[in-house]
Amino acid sequence: MSSNIDTPGERATTDEAEIDDRTVAALTDVMTVLDSIGRAADAPELYLVVSSSGSAYLVDTAEGRCECPDDTHRPVECKHRRRVAFAIGERPIPKWVDPVALDDQFGLHVDADPRRAVADGGGVRISVDESNVTGPTSGPLAVEADDDPRTERAKQEDIDVSFLAKPGRYEVYSASGRVYEVDIVEKTCSCPDDVARCKHLRRVDIEIRAGMIPRPDGRLPDA
Ligand SMILES: [Zn+2]
Ligand SMILES: [Zn+2]
Repeated sequence: MSSNIDTPGERATTDEAEIDDRTVAALTDVMTVLDSIGRAADAPELYLVVSSSGSAYLVDTAEGRCECPDDTHRPVECKHRRRVAFAIGERPIPKWVDPVALDDQFGLHVDADPRRAVADGGGVRISVDESNVTGPTSGPLAVEADDDPRTERAKQEDIDVSFLAKPGRYEVYSASGRVYEVDIVEKTCSCPDDVARCKHLRRVDIEIRAGMIPRPDGRLPDA
């Protein structure tokens, strides 16, 4: 691919240079960036990026590496590395990006906040769907008066849900660092909680209905 830049003799600005498919995918694909779970636990430079297809790739920000095939076999920065850089605020989200087009999962599961580029080159914080953060007063995770205690905990606890490629299966990362597999079709969960509908199952159900994660068939609900 030839680099056809409008301003010959001059380097393109960061924004212009970054408009390519991988950057668009990094900003809009459904991906979850996790910074303190599994292989990314206890290593500040490591992040686990889980895609909607269920693949999980380890990104090493110190080495500038991702284990996905795109990054391994091509001299490019893959969409996972770009996503991590945006999600943790290391790279400002370009100002041409419509906030509505950003993946809803953006920055939800990492400690740092994404930054939004501004005209003067500085950065400001962008707030991305604050309703998903623990303790909202409105939105799908707000606690309603008629919620029973288990539904309340399902909404309030720091739980991450990832879609797996297997039909109806979701991986649920609990605040304690444990990972459970929920089967929304069979209505089962691998946790030891001996009730008909544990909080993990409830949380997956709530997030599907709210369009926060793909439905069992892998598609996002219509907005
Ligand atoms: Zn990658
Ligand atoms: Zn459970």
